[in-house]
Amino acid sequence: MSSVSHVVVIEDESTVQGVLKFHLERAGLRVSAFGTVEEALNSLEHADALVLDWMLPGESGLSFLRRLRADPELRKLPVLMLTARAAEAERVEGLETGADDYLTKPFSAAELVARVRALLRRTQAEVLQVLQVGPLTIDVSAAEASKDGIALNLTRREFDLLTFLATNVGRVYSRTDLLDRVWGADFLGGERTVDQHITQLRAHLGDDPTAPLFIETVRGKGYRMRLWNV
Ligand code: CA
Repeated sequence: MSSVSHVVVIEDESTVQGVLKFHLERAGLRVSAFGTVEEALNSLEHADALVLDWMLPGESGLSFLRRLRADPELRKLPVLMLTARAAEAERVEGLETGADDYLTKPFSAAELVARVRALLRRTQAEVLQVLQVGPLTIDVSAAEASKDGIALNLTRREFDLLTFLATNVGRVYSRTDLLDRVWGADFLGGERTVDQHITQLRAHLGDDPTAPLFIETVRGKGYRMRLWNV
């Protein structure tokens, strides 16, 4: 990597702030941590990602997120929202307001690092248009994927599914989520469609469903692309 990614953290609880900073720095990222939105404002211009706590003294994380998404300069800054509890309503509100992802406290270090890396990868993917997951290379702009340098002959939908999972590596998606995100809300087919495409994709990748190197089945939850770098 040519430069170290810079992550801004806004979290008022000093213990949590310390934990965030420690793990992200250990993952090789440059971190600037603040206790309020106001203190962080000047650092955001050069940030590559923002980890934003929901409950903050002064302006709340949610209110700030709303402002951020209306700001032409900062509109595209990837945001990972921290919530204190797994309240579905909060999660939905946060995502609707424009958070790219969310993390519920308490979180594990591996989960935090994976989520932040996924955000950074997504932004870099927009610039580079090439994703790398272990031996897989996904050229987003050319819509071509290869494994160990050998082209995979994927259909457009298989490619989109692979790209979505690879962009959000380590993250579990239910069949319904995948239908919404890859096929689109107006798609009329059922969840079997997802399973069929996963089966086809695994065949292309040479992935053994009982011991997959790439696409894991998470029982009762859905599918995820395995982490290769954490
Ligand atoms: Ca807080």
